[in-house]
Amino acid sequence: MKRNILTVDVEEWHHVCCCGKSFPYPSPESQRVRRNLHKILSLLEEHEQKATFFMLGAVAEKNADLAPMIVSGGHEIASHGYSHRLVTELTPEEFEEELEATERIILRQTGLRPFGYRAPQWSMPKSAEWAFAILRDRGYYYDSSLNPLLFVGENGWSCTPYDIPAGEGVIREFPPMVTKNRLLNLPTGGGWGFRLFPMGIICGTIDAINRSGLPAMLYLHPREVDPEGPRMELPLIKRFVSYGTRDDLTPRLKTVLEKYHFTTVMEIMNIDGMHTDSGI
Ligand SMILES: [Zn+2]
Repeated sequence: MKRNILTVDVEEWHHVCCCGKSFPYPSPESQRVRRNLHKILSLLEEHEQKATFFMLGAVAEKNADLAPMIVSGGHEIASHGYSHRLVTELTPEEFEEELEATERIILRQTGLRPFGYRAPQWSMPKSAEWAFAILRDRGYYYDSSLNPLLFVGENGWSCTPYDIPAGEGVIREFPPMVTKNRLLNLPTGGGWGFRLFPMGIICGTIDAINRSGLPAMLYLHPREVDPEGPRMELPLIKRFVSYGTRDDLTPRLKTVLEKYHFTTVMEIMNIDGMHTDSGI
């Protein structure tokens, strides 16, 4: 069976849509990320599937059991930065500080370091070679931040994995799945698109990508399996993108877990090197 990639951005319910608000830790609501992550991990175990978890450093720091829980399930830990600030708002120094902080926390908690990165809200600027160079210099193998979609990226970007110049070398880019359309790509790989479009379109896209010999990459967030979770007060469009169309992603997640084989990015890249003694 063809292998696909399932990814989870491990963050709190309030890390949505660049709302700019901060919330005190620990709050009763912050415990929901643990419960929701448990739910996702149980589903993966039940279906004998593996995933890559892009962990937000601030969430790992305040919930020290999450990263070890992910690793003990045989999954990959990658980085979602530390604070969920957009890369476009960071200086190169701040970007590196975010990476370093999350690497340090994950290494302390699991003995492993992340080798993959996903920017908050797909905010990695494709033109910013400096950011990819920093990733490469810090030992990252891949990035998964460039979404070939209007508004969060560009419709014309590649929908299949490719290499991006990064200093003296390259970083492998893994874009999330989209459904190609004559006018605009559709966001069927995650978010509101995965919640809204008919499963026939979503599965048809995965099948087509697999037929071309490539893995499809899906993504989700812990809050999407939590219909009772707290919600931000957001303007209409942001509310739709963050919460709209379907309360609970779980049935759809189960459908794809039953139908397809999922694994981690590192396994797709055929790299077995998650253990480190680099002392970061
Ligand atoms: Zn995020």
